[in-house]
Amino acid sequence: MTDAAAPRSGARVRALVVEDEAPIRRVIVAYLTKEGFDVSEVDNGLIAIDIIERDLPDVVVLDLMLPGIDGIEVCRQLRTFSDAYVVMLTARAEEVDTLIGLSVGADDYMTKPFSNRELVARIQAMMRRPRVSIPAGSTREFGDLRIDPDSREVTLDGVCLEFTRTEFDILDVLSAQPRHVYSRERLIDEVWGSGWIADARLVDVHVSHIRAKLGDASSDPKYVLTVRGVGFRMGTG
Ligand code: CA
Repeated sequence: MTDAAAPRSGARVRALVVEDEAPIRRVIVAYLTKEGFDVSEVDNGLIAIDIIERDLPDVVVLDLMLPGIDGIEVCRQLRTFSDAYVVMLTARAEEVDTLIGLSVGADDYMTKPFSNRELVARIQAMMRRPRVSIPAGSTREFGDLRIDPDSREVTLDGVCLEFTRTEFDILDVLSAQPRHVYSRERLIDEVWGSGWIADARLVDVHVSHIRAKLGDASSDPKYVLTVRGVGFRMGTG
């Protein structure tokens, strides 16, 4: 099975660092380059959008406070055309709560000052995300919802839906064992990789995005069900 989280076989992972503070940007660029990433850099949010549209990087390290447009707006705009893995950098830990609440679409957050080694480790862990082992060619059906893990296509009533990489991976894990209830921690292990230190609320944010795209009401969802006090599992549609 191909690892869909990784770029084309043999190609280097392309990363874009969007940060206006030159000393911080240079250190991140140096670390990522040393670790074998193909790295570009930019110090302005508006220009970042142009570069992301042109180069379609696999990973975007995105500072929150930027000239041009801020990291929130960059993330919102890039999510309309890219499923790049986005790590957002913030100056204060309290900002992470606000950002999670705003559902800006970042996959992960790091608060400055952070360890560059930790940043690289998190990105690398994401690129090695374990794939769910299921027989090839088995499309999964849940009522009108069809999930094809090989092509990573999701259709609802025959209409193809767009999911980000993280959203698809969550749906992939849940739908591979539809009767299994996954805790938030287990989902983080399965999707982000074991040993990952992620905020469990990130899972809720991604699930809410998945539901919105499926037209699933959070009060009475048909496809991604909440099992109170435990976590999530697939519904029958
Ligand atoms: Ca900044």
